[in-house]
Amino acid sequence: MYRIQELLDSSGVIFNHIPYPTFLADKEGQIIWWSREAEKSFGYHLEDVQGEEFPLFSHKSQGNPSVVWENLLRNINPIRYDAIELTSKNGDKKEASVTAKSFTFEHERYVLFLIDYNQIPNNEETSFKELQLLKKGLSESFMLIYLDKEGLITHANEQFLQKSNWTPKRVIGKSFWQMFPNTSEHVATADKVMKVLQQGKNFQGTVEKITKDGHNYWVDLLAMPITDADNNTLYYLLLEEEITEKKLLQSRLEQIAYIDTETGLISRYRLEQITSEYINEQRHFSFVFISIDQFYTLKELFNDQTEAELLNEFTKRLKMYFQDSIIARATRDEFALITPLSDWYIQGFIHFLTQNPIYLNNKVIPITVSGGITKYPEDQQSYLHLIKASNATIQKIKQQGGGAIASLSQSDHHKLSRQIQIEKRMLEALNKDDFHVMYLPQKNSATGKITSVEALVRWEDEVLGTVSPEELIPIAEETGLINEIGTFMLEKSCEQAAIWKSKGIPLKVSFNSSIREFRDKNMVKKIRQLLEKYNCPANLLQIEITEKFALEAESDITIIKQMQTLQQDGVVFVLDDFGVGYASLRYLQLLPVEELKIDRSFINSITHQGKLQKLVNGLIHLGQSLDIRVVAEGVESKEQHDLLVQMGCDAIQGYYIGRPSSREEIEALLK
Ligand code: C2E
Ligand code: CA
Ligand code: CA
Repeated sequence: MYRIQELLDSSGVIFNHIPYPTFLADKEGQIIWWSREAEKSFGYHLEDVQGEEFPLFSHKSQGNPSVVWENLLRNINPIRYDAIELTSKNGDKKEASVTAKSFTFEHERYVLFLIDYNQIPNNEETSFKELQLLKKGLSESFMLIYLDKEGLITHANEQFLQKSNWTPKRVIGKSFWQMFPNTSEHVATADKVMKVLQQGKNFQGTVEKITKDGHNYWVDLLAMPITDADNNTLYYLLLEEEITEKKLLQSRLEQIAYIDTETGLISRYRLEQITSEYINEQRHFSFVFISIDQFYTLKELFNDQTEAELLNEFTKRLKMYFQDSIIARATRDEFALITPLSDWYIQGFIHFLTQNPIYLNNKVIPITVSGGITKYPEDQQSYLHLIKASNATIQKIKQQGGGAIASLSQSDHHKLSRQIQIEKRMLEALNKDDFHVMYLPQKNSATGKITSVEALVRWEDEVLGTVSPEELIPIAEETGLINEIGTFMLEKSCEQAAIWKSKGIPLKVSFNSSIREFRDKNMVKKIRQLLEKYNCPANLLQIEITEKFALEAESDITIIKQMQTLQQDGVVFVLDDFGVGYASLRYLQLLPVEELKIDRSFINSITHQGKLQKLVNGLIHLGQSLDIRVVAEGVESKEQHDLLVQMGCDAIQGYYIGRPSSREEIEALLK
């Protein structure tokens, strides 16, 4: 448990991250902490202001101070006071907005003040952290590591050894990279540090490292190349200060005070709350999500320091343009607004950004944004769905190159809400057994008889109407419910094949499978159990896989093994939609496929396109030369049928043979 004073006294002081002058008062209105930015802006140190009641404000403009204060203490929302005149130590007066936010910490009430001048300042920020680090020098509080030019450790001080749990002997010769967690993200960080050093520059930033025994910890890192008089690099010196605890406190305080400590905006926790409050009160508003285009590319151009400045400058522009709106930091490079403003005004932000460009180190940073506007209650009705919809809009805009803010178009709107409804009702439908199966017949060319049927899922929902598999399957794959649907279809396929067998009808049943089902290591077991349950011979079951499935299976030996085992049991694998996607020939060699189905897009215009005929003819012969049966699907006319049979196609499927039918209709067809 921390008392707030201990917390504020502790090393870096949590709220010093906020790029605005900030101070904290207790419930009596006495200042108990004063940020570095505040020192810088007003010339006062904490000793000067400690205990004072609002030293900066002129009370007149804000009414009776004790009433204002009570109000502030009780209100959990941030309150903003505009046009406040503030006086600094040397008598200068400045006008600013002050945002005050009260919060409770360890049963006591506090108020956090953020001061914002609303102006675009000229850019001559001195690097505070760096100065501080240097001032502290190489004192004992730092962990020190020396690297040679290849990044191998040549020396490490006691502090580092203690923290990292390496022994002095063992650590020598270990690489810099070994001190980082072994994930691609962390390796990229280490690479970046090294790259900066090799360019002869300093790196400074916060990085996550790992001890020898696998515990992660956070440090503020300053890495610098040490050169001789002729500017030749001798070695690299790394100074590290551990900030793990600070990091944890920071995120905890962020949750309590709902302030994003990097920008001073409200945090996403608070955003979610405010949105829900607005929804409860049924207030109308636009929810706007704004994402900086190519943030990571931009970021690459700069170091960590300028990233913070960039975000800070961007935040200032948001605040200037969107006054009277609630502005939140949503993720690293995304911001969210709750606003009553009209679409055209919101879209004007793009123009505003070009008129007020961001300069860093005297260079214009070419920033553009993509944004999505979603309206409550017209478009979406919950926080999650507002976010989801705005994100979908942004994705679309980014695909088109970014640099625009758009509202959810009517058709998207329709699609999205239907998609969300499908998601919701699918679970219910599974529980209620609302799905059923239709069978699509396939005719053997040699015998002219129906020898197999393909099981297709059908869903008739009382609210949504007919939901086609084309709509249903992608959503089921996304939500994971495809496994449930797959199990249902598989069970029905085995059951029906067994019933037909017992009636003396020799029909194979094809089941469409998603790769997701085969990622389950128990797929073989599951299929064997179902075959046994219904007493269905394995050779009556066919499993159709798509090329997308094949592409993934190819690199996953456990999937191939499962397929091979099932094939040995007698199950037949069919490669569906053949020819639409990838370099398909490889799969035919690699996977235990016994049949391929030429996609219906090839069959469509086969009777009047000579080239297509040749292609299909080639596919048929290719299959046959590999001992793979070839089926044509989507055959709708007699001409198509006759042509394909003449070419030597082993089997034909499509409306010409029969539409998807109930099991009774299939039985009637066979008579
Ligand atoms: P698919 O596997 O290629 O299935 C054939 C689709 O083509 C079926 O559409 C069928 O009704 C349609 N079709 C058959 N003959 C003709 C024809 O002559 N002309 C035309 N225009 N269409 C024809 P459906 O039932 O809408 O299924 C669409 C897709 O949804 C299927 O394509 C399959 O990929 C997927 N699907 C269907 N049921 C399931 C299932 O139970 N599980 C999984 N994972 N996917 C399924
Ligand atoms: Ca199929
Ligand atoms: Ca197909």
